[in-house]
Amino acid sequence: LKAEIITVGDEILIGQVVDTNSAYLASELNKLGISVIQITSVSDNRQSIIRALDNAAQHADLIITTGGLGPTSDDITKQTLAAYFHSRLTQHPKVLENIRSLLAYRRVELNDLNIKQAELPDNCEVLHNSAGTAQGMWFKKDGRDFISLPGVPYEMKAIYHEEMEQRLKQRFDLPAIHHVTVLTHGMPESEMAGLIHDWEESLPANIKLAYLPSPGILRLRLTGKTSGNPVELKKSVERELTELKKIIGQYIFGYDNEKLEVITGNLLKENNLSLSLAESCTGGSVSGLITSVPGSSAYYKGGIVAYSNEIKIRDLKVKPDDISTFGAVSQQIVEQMASGARDHFKTDFAVAVSGIAGPAGGTNDKPVGTTWIAVASKNGIISHIYQLGEDRGRNIQKASLSALFLLNTEIRKYL
Ligand code: ATP
Ligand code: MG
Repeated sequence: LKAEIITVGDEILIGQVVDTNSAYLASELNKLGISVIQITSVSDNRQSIIRALDNAAQHADLIITTGGLGPTSDDITKQTLAAYFHSRLTQHPKVLENIRSLLAYRRVELNDLNIKQAELPDNCEVLHNSAGTAQGMWFKKDGRDFISLPGVPYEMKAIYHEEMEQRLKQRFDLPAIHHVTVLTHGMPESEMAGLIHDWEESLPANIKLAYLPSPGILRLRLTGKTSGNPVELKKSVERELTELKKIIGQYIFGYDNEKLEVITGNLLKENNLSLSLAESCTGGSVSGLITSVPGSSAYYKGGIVAYSNEIKIRDLKVKPDDISTFGAVSQQIVEQMASGARDHFKTDFAVAVSGIAGPAGGTNDKPVGTTWIAVASKNGIISHIYQLGEDRGRNIQKASLSALFLLNTEIRKYL
């Protein structure tokens, strides 16, 4: 089954809005085993929309548009579709009622433009929008399915999940799909590719591997597809996963949508362990990750952002002479920071980060990206050096994830 996504909107074509709707829909459709073969963006213009629909109908079975369903005069997708499918616009009393109650809830007066939004083509299936006033529409013509969704991302997603996803599964004879995403840290994409090359080569034809890198995390997604038995498919994907774990197990920290901060937080909570932080170059970003998890107060006591040497010395009891001798970004200092935080907060674990985020401050010995991370516990202190990249924002992100990953590894050893 082949699909095309058409996003409608001048704002996309002038670069004011980034087309995230296509990415979202493409990823959802892929999960169902529907291949997106083309993504097109067109302006809010009748000819452009019609040309895009005609083109798409030549090679796709399912055509999804987003955008241009609003009540204002610049939104012309609905009128264009009505003309394209030879529909008459008629008022849907139930839709009008829904719009009325949605607006009442938001304390907005119902106006003529909103009333017009309840006028919909008489030959489509209406997809209820629980999050806004523009309804989705599902047309069928010449063996093809055309679905039109609003442009506002959260409205588009609401309709997709509440009204479309299930209907797509019923309407089309879709293959069984089984996805597993392996979350890894600490191995760059190119080296990972080398490491798992033989395993990848030996994968059966119906199981595909995708590399999805982001700063600090490399996700490996295994997708199995079959028109046969879904239980067998799942087993064969699991079998490949077991093989993969044997090769790269030490770099894996989780699966699918799990987050390192949640996994690590759970480890601390389940084992009644407490945590504190001493952050220099990450400026509180590790603390931000930790506290993004609901319930983190059960294990996280607090942290010190020791950006200046003065604070490292005063609050973390780092030795001034050692800063002069080794520099603030060094094994000696990061270890003292970790043990200083552990003493100060009286926690089971303390993590410290000190690095050169850039763009300035690098030297030949310690180029931008040089980062030390230490973890202190009752078992002593361990520390590691990381050579991150040149970009400040990404360095902070990578350093924060590396700190969590090292903490995670140490907690496991501790248990
Ligand atoms: P509304 O009823 O809210 O006007 P609409 O269907 O008319 O919905 P548009 O007017 O096309 O939607 O877009 C509304 C807003 O939604 C845009 O200003 C933009 O912020 C966002 N948007 C539209 N299309 C996309 C897209 N493809 N990706 C991400 N955001 C989008
Ligand atoms: Mg609009």
